[in-house]
Amino acid sequence: MIKMLTISPIPAFSDNYIWHLEREGEHWVVDPGDAAPVLEALRGAPLAGILITHHHLDHIGGVAELVKQHQCPVYGPASIEGVTHPLQDGDEFLLMGAAVKVLAVPGHTLDHLALLLEEPGGEHSPHLFCGDTLFAGGCGRLFEGTPKQMYGSLSKLSELPPETQVYCAHEYTRANLRFAAEAEPGNAVLQNRVNQVDSLRAEGKPTVPSTIGEELATNPFLRCHIPAVARRAADHGAAENSDEVEVFATLRQWKDNF
Ligand SMILES: [Zn+2]
Repeated sequence: MIKMLTISPIPAFSDNYIWHLEREGEHWVVDPGDAAPVLEALRGAPLAGILITHHHLDHIGGVAELVKQHQCPVYGPASIEGVTHPLQDGDEFLLMGAAVKVLAVPGHTLDHLALLLEEPGGEHSPHLFCGDTLFAGGCGRLFEGTPKQMYGSLSKLSELPPETQVYCAHEYTRANLRFAAEAEPGNAVLQNRVNQVDSLRAEGKPTVPSTIGEELATNPFLRCHIPAVARRAADHGAAENSDEVEVFATLRQWKDNF
């Protein structure tokens, strides 16, 4: 019987999470922006490998030092220096006995990848490592891609099974939900989530992972097809009868200045 995979956050900088995957003494990390907290979490154990979602420094800044100390492989977008195993959309590989699927999710950056990890046997929820694309209650800023690209990427993620656990790379949930409550004031499920997240943060606990189901019910960037959200976008500059991409683009711009 294979032991359970454990996934825990390693806090870094002011609000990043480096995800730490461990099974039977094998350790991997996702998006190590800083080496020091990873080395501390490993407590002398060897690091088997690194996964990267995109090229921003707060996701890759610790890679060189970790590779120097652990001589481990680095899986990620081909555009990033130091990647030993370049990944692209549709790739699949095995990681600690679990199947990993690579999804291209351009928008926040053009090279952004999401990694979907599925345990064998189908009794566990899939795990999604989505970097700065889908956040709990929000989504990443558009630094490189177009609203159409980002909306396409978010739509792809929203089609994953609702029980999929969403491991984003920042603790932005409270601020995201404050905006969400403005974008869809009549959403009672969202109001409950605001309260839950407020209590978690008051106790200093992480608000991630969330699930795709929770995001579908409360994240305005996944709810551009909902008339109430489209109406709020219209109040903030979207044309009447906008399509979903225009609603998305308006929400994203509104949030940038929120
Ligand atoms: Zn980023």
